Amino acid sequence: MVENYRPTKAVIDLTAIKSNLTYFQEKSGDAEVIAVVKADAYGHGVLEVVKTVVAHGVRMLAVATPDEALFLRNQGIDTELLVLGATSSQFIPIAQQHNIIVTAISLDWLSMAARHIEQNSDPLKIHLKVDTGMRRIGVQVDEVEEAFGFIADHDFDFKGIFTHFATADEKDSPLFSQQVNAMNTILDKLDDPSVKVHISNSAAAIMHPDLACDAVRIGISLYGIAPSPYVGEEMNFDLQPALSLETEMIHVKKLKAGETLSYGATYRAEKDEWIATIPIGYADGMLRGLQGQDVLVKGQRVPIIGRICMDQCMIRLSEKSSIGEKVQLIGRQGNQQILIDEWAAKLDTIPYEIPCILTKRVPRVYLEKAEFSDFSFQQSDKMLR
Ligand SMILES: *Cc1c(COP(=O)(O)O)cnc(C)c1O
Repeated sequence: MVENYRPTKAVIDLTAIKSNLTYFQEKSGDAEVIAVVKADAYGHGVLEVVKTVVAHGVRMLAVATPDEALFLRNQGIDTELLVLGATSSQFIPIAQQHNIIVTAISLDWLSMAARHIEQNSDPLKIHLKVDTGMRRIGVQVDEVEEAFGFIADHDFDFKGIFTHFATADEKDSPLFSQQVNAMNTILDKLDDPSVKVHISNSAAAIMHPDLACDAVRIGISLYGIAPSPYVGEEMNFDLQPALSLETEMIHVKKLKAGETLSYGATYRAEKDEWIATIPIGYADGMLRGLQGQDVLVKGQRVPIIGRICMDQCMIRLSEKSSIGEKVQLIGRQGNQQILIDEWAAKLDTIPYEIPCILTKRVPRVYLEKAEFSDFSFQQSDKMLR
């Protein structure tokens, strides 16, 4: 039982994650869904997300770093695990011991790994990453045959091959087609049907279900967020946003006409105004660039005014309110909804960044509406832990 004595919290709706997962499972046909749970499940809390998706048919999880993989193993998660990013020589025997699949990111990596494989352990499981155009990590297209040969000659368990798209979330991208073509020429040379092929991220899985191959790697949209506005508009399914952010007013007062507020005194009341202080600031991930962003109070939009402080900020109310009144920063209240996309636009960034920048100080609490379907929403709210 986690207790928090500050009302600021991120509420994660696990049934939303289930609903998004089901969409991808149905959309991708025979291909399996690899749940991408890197970066603490995009800020949603990796353990709860993993338990939810594993209970609903996911058989492989992908993380970015060896430490993320080891954390899951140490927490007793025994699902197949793939590290998408680079791993060092010291991690090779650990990957063998803990049955963690690592990514072969280059020919150099393969020869390094071959030298560090523990002989008395199970073979090192690898997926080969091919760089078809992202130009981040991966063996080059013209090195793939050499990589196949090297893998065959050493103690690797060759489990999969994949690539990553740079522009799958854009309309009619020539680079996307180039990447697909490059991958097809490589797959023609692969004659082992037991090697799992996966190329699609959320955007590709939504826009090009025909490219699903053996598996799709679903990250952002598992959490109910569209990879880009273009994909969001094109898709014919309503992704269910899993994360909402809320707090309560801790102070309410009248600001008199002409008075200023917060650091730098940059905000001045034009007339007498009701102001509330809320306990969330940039140390929670509510960045200063969100000054002017709306929040929801009693189902109405009201703005954040003045500079956002480290731990607190102020909002301008349309009428007097009281301490303890709920303030919705992300999510739905009444007929109004503030999406992560709105924060992203305000901060001139992509939605991916928003849940990742909510810091550890904001507790993640979990709503499992399905399990409490006999309760009204208000009652199930009390089930938060
Ligand atoms: C993060 C990541 C994904 C998931 O991408 P989304 O756009 O979040 O679905 C897939 N593959 C790789 C290699 C990644 O790094």
